[in-house]
Amino acid sequence: MTGTLTAEPLTAADRCDRCGAQAYVRVTLPVGSELLFCAHHGREYAPKLRELDARILDESERLDEPQPNPASAALPD
Ligand SMILES: [Zn+2]
Repeated sequence: MTGTLTAEPLTAADRCDRCGAQAYVRVTLPVGSELLFCAHHGREYAPKLRELDARILDESERLDEPQPNPASAALPD
């Protein structure tokens, strides 16, 4: 296990599988399937996904970057 993951960075075209907001968390399940979550749902599902031994790549720190279209601000919580 090297711990090195060379995944493409998430882009504005990547959308949360749950709510359709811009995705900031990429989850790879042990079976190889991939899920994308926004920062909100990434945090919500992270404990459960870790139980499944999923690999979680959290890019939510990029939320600090200026966003051309901050759709996440309009989401009901
Ligand atoms: Zn979401």
